[in-house]
Amino acid sequence: MAKIIAVVNQKGGVGKTTTAVNLSAALHDLGKRVLLCDFDPQANSTSGMGVDKNTASPNIYDVLINGAEPAKAVVRTRYGDVLPSNKALAGAGIEMIAIDNRERLLKTALDALSGDYDYIFIDCPPSLELLTVNALCAAGSLLVPVQCEYYALEGLSDLLATVRLVKRGLNPALSLEGVLLTMFDSRTNLSLQVAEEVKRHFPGQVYATVIPRNVRLSEAPSHGRPISAYDPYSRGAEAYRLLADEIASKR
Ligand code: ADP
Ligand code: MG
Repeated sequence: MAKIIAVVNQKGGVGKTTTAVNLSAALHDLGKRVLLCDFDPQANSTSGMGVDKNTASPNIYDVLINGAEPAKAVVRTRYGDVLPSNKALAGAGIEMIAIDNRERLLKTALDALSGDYDYIFIDCPPSLELLTVNALCAAGSLLVPVQCEYYALEGLSDLLATVRLVKRGLNPALSLEGVLLTMFDSRTNLSLQVAEEVKRHFPGQVYATVIPRNVRLSEAPSHGRPISAYDPYSRGAEAYRLLADEIASKR
């Protein structure tokens, strides 16, 4: 059965999608069977893996709302498998309210695929609403990217409160896989201070691997490739390789 990891932080722009795409691809390069489930209506991890987000059909929206078979929605790429998203997913949070077991729709879909993979990553939207609750119910654990910037910890208490609620009822086994420091700039004191503060707040739960700020990581998506294919010798590629090693060695 796959280890299902939700990449979550309700703040936008902290590196969720960058991490979901590049970590998936790096684990794929290690020979792991990986599925990346894009669960953000912006569908940036779909396009980041080289899949056309406007035409991918069926997609995760069709699986959740229209009863499409999960396996039929999976797209195989050179960098690993993708369950594509679509902007229609933005309305799914409302449509799901009328469906039985609305918090478990994603879990049902991913459990049907779990036997085929070592890892399934869920790239979450920047909110704590029903879509994210679905991700928290489907996941065994959470990977929380934290940007090394002012207010890095802001909002994390809301995330952890939501996690506690989900654990109390819907998914008692949910655990924290790890906190990932992203966009670290070793030239600034701010990055160092934030890293120290995050480590104090989450003792023993911060990955040893830190993702540096690296312009190649921000260029790769517009080429529809993970960093491992766009610029394998960049510092960003090296960092995500190290993170993949760190995660694979924990399993
Ligand atoms: P989220 O999914 O949390 O909204 P993204 O992964 O989309 O965040 O990242 C936000 C922006 O920052 C994107 O333009 C992305 O390319 C860029 N970015 C992410 N990580 C890095 C990094 N380590 N170095 C430089 N740019 C990055
Ligand atoms: Mg994103």
